[in-house]
Amino acid sequence: MTISVQDKQYLNFINGKGVPSSSQEMMESLNPANKKEAVGYVQKSTLEDLNLAIKAAKQAQEKWKRLSGAARGQYLHKAADIMENRLDEIAECATREMGKTLAETKGETARGIAILRYYAGEGMRKMGDVIPSTDAEALMFTSRVPLGVVGVITPWNFPIAIPIWKIAPALVYGNTVIIKPATETAITCAKIIECFEEAEIPAGVVNMITGSGSIIGQAIAEHPEINAITFTGSDRVGKQIGQQAFARGAKYQLEMGGKNPVIVAADADLDLAVEGTISGAFRSTGQKCTATSRVIVQHEVYEKFKQKLLAKTKEITVGEGLNEDTWMGPCASENQLQTVLSYIEKGKSEGATLLYGGRQLTDGEYENGFYVEPTIFENVESHMTISQEEIFGPVIALMKVESIEEALALANDVQYGLSASIFTTNISHMLSFINEMDAGLIRINSESAGVELQAPFGGMKQSSSHSREQGEAAKEFFTAIKTVFIKS
Ligand code: NAP
Repeated sequence: MTISVQDKQYLNFINGKGVPSSSQEMMESLNPANKKEAVGYVQKSTLEDLNLAIKAAKQAQEKWKRLSGAARGQYLHKAADIMENRLDEIAECATREMGKTLAETKGETARGIAILRYYAGEGMRKMGDVIPSTDAEALMFTSRVPLGVVGVITPWNFPIAIPIWKIAPALVYGNTVIIKPATETAITCAKIIECFEEAEIPAGVVNMITGSGSIIGQAIAEHPEINAITFTGSDRVGKQIGQQAFARGAKYQLEMGGKNPVIVAADADLDLAVEGTISGAFRSTGQKCTATSRVIVQHEVYEKFKQKLLAKTKEITVGEGLNEDTWMGPCASENQLQTVLSYIEKGKSEGATLLYGGRQLTDGEYENGFYVEPTIFENVESHMTISQEEIFGPVIALMKVESIEEALALANDVQYGLSASIFTTNISHMLSFINEMDAGLIRINSESAGVELQAPFGGMKQSSSHSREQGEAAKEFFTAIKTVFIKS
């Protein structure tokens, strides 16, 4: 392997080998559980480095697109085998880089492996349809072709699964890839790319460039030789990338924020609802795009639900993700911690009642990390900032309503539409929720966070650019359709 070198230093991966940046500068990746620990160092890349990667990816695509889908899939299978052998190492690295628990990062690595295998199989599935022509002597069909070079820009919150669920379909459908991972989790990405290197993927098919989003990320969005951009991250950056890609006619896919509601109906199984709320809101320290952030409860069960929720929240153990008894790790970075704390202050100053938590943890074992308590507000009104903006931290807004109709109106009263969940035993409430809720992921008697890799994933409203990732839906983005008409 050529990406990792001595002293925890990692190189870019360009044209099949590890390459230092022309800047000769590195960026540090810190452990959010202990800011004194540098997990490692990655390249602070330049536009010159990016241009090398684009040249390699372009050249490699000429050959890669000519391989059969099955042959391309074999490389994904090989990478999956290698990742299986390195599961513990990759998971531990992700925990050290972004703080979530080892159980979560092991689960995420296993998910990454399953995604690779799923798309390996896609190489053998259909790539077009025959369409009856009105001309009896003609054959008309569609054929799906690769887009070319795909730019992949990823966030830090799922540092294993998100890069893989973009890279794997891009490759199997015949594209080559340049990934710029989030700076916070660039080493985890380097380890994933090493699995492709070990699988002997042809030079230039997968390239990784680490560096600042506003320089390398922006250049990827603007570069005329990158044919498509797949982005997951904040809506601020996503909208900018969308405009840049649109302006030059590149295909783009944006998966952005969420402000996901859970409705608890009066007829709900309250223990199940509490379990789903806790897991949806506080797992991964609330740093999931599908995390629960608004909990809308019918008044008949509000007090009972609230007491149960409080009791369970008090049981949450906060600590370093590598400790087996930790349930919730730190925020992923100092920046993230400060954002969460400022939203908590805003909640208080706008008049919501802080019911539980709200403090940064700084004593003893927490001294060097970016820890915050799981936090619950009540008396939250829909216009308040903590009810409208994505916090991306372990903060819940509890809201009381009279009816399911009111709950649905409140649930829809945000700019986002990613995931939404209802706890109810009433079939008509379920049907209203399916029909009326503006969200790409509808979850019933299940937490708002959680997706299966074979199903379409994406949001409505301002959560996405409305294409879908995962499963067969990925084919829509990573290929172009040609309609072919042949006359004998
Ligand atoms: P972010 O700040 O938008 O960063 C995402 C990626 O974009 C990073 O690689 C970043 O690089 C890069 N970037 C930053 N500025 C850029 C620019 N001007 N041009 C091009 N690229 C640029 O988001 P984040 O803080 O990493 O992730 C959290 C967000 O992701 C949340 O809003 C969350 O909801 C969203 N998310 C959405 C989904 C979904 O599927 N809907 C899933 C997960 C996360 P640097 O790291 O170097 O800044």
